[in-house]
Amino acid sequence: MTVFFLFFLFVLGVSMGSFLGVLVDRLPQGQSILGRSHCDFCKKKIPWYDLLPLLSFINLGGKCRYCQKKISYFYFLIELITGVFFVLVFFLPDLQDNIISFRTLFWLGIISCLIVIFFSDLKYQIIPDSIQISLFIFGFFLKVEETERIFCLKQLLDCYLIKMSENFIAGAVVMLPILFLYWVTGGRGMGFGDVKMSFVIGFLLGVKGGLLALYFAFIIGAVTGLILILLKRKKLKSKIAFGPFLVFGTLILIYFQNQILFLVNKIYGF
Ligand SMILES: [Zn+2]
Repeated sequence: MTVFFLFFLFVLGVSMGSFLGVLVDRLPQGQSILGRSHCDFCKKKIPWYDLLPLLSFINLGGKCRYCQKKISYFYFLIELITGVFFVLVFFLPDLQDNIISFRTLFWLGIISCLIVIFFSDLKYQIIPDSIQISLFIFGFFLKVEETERIFCLKQLLDCYLIKMSENFIAGAVVMLPILFLYWVTGGRGMGFGDVKMSFVIGFLLGVKGGLLALYFAFIIGAVTGLILILLKRKKLKSKIAFGPFLVFGTLILIYFQNQILFLVNKIYGF
């Protein structure tokens, strides 16, 4: 039964990944997300049987059916990654007591948004606002559902107000260091997209979780930057998008928040 469900999540993920690939390519350029896909080179419309996630790419040997030009492996990669992360949602600590729930859907939405942010910032240095807002909305639903479940001594409405204010404050607190960096560097080190995203991260993960996500983003970013400089792929002054590292940090916290908070508490005592 579990294997069947995992397989279902994978198929759902690769199909979603196919759509996310379209979003990554079209949203940063302000193109409509409707309308059929066509080959980048010969502009021929791609028939449905060549749009099957993963399978079509393999079947066509990574080439366009008409002009034989190479199709970017980027689409294949994003489908595969989405498939894998959808399967991983099954193992989220947050869902262990109830995998068949609305929370699972919200988490799948959050993962999808993070994947789009990762690739569009990597490819175009843009984090589309529409995806930031979608990420926030999925996070908002998650928090509403959470509030429904916690035992509250006061009226339910008070309970909502308190919990939501906490989340908004957490967002603001986590946003502060990035906003400061944005201000100090005059927008060269960080984009305003990163500022907005750190707010959503704080809203989603809370103060501790959000700040830890930033911490991991900086560590992974610094190591990656160093490796790229050593490999002479980048110069010391060249710009590297920060969004992908924010996504990394967020994913680490989503999956391992309990373990990390436990470690931090053990080492530093808070
Ligand atoms: Zn073609």
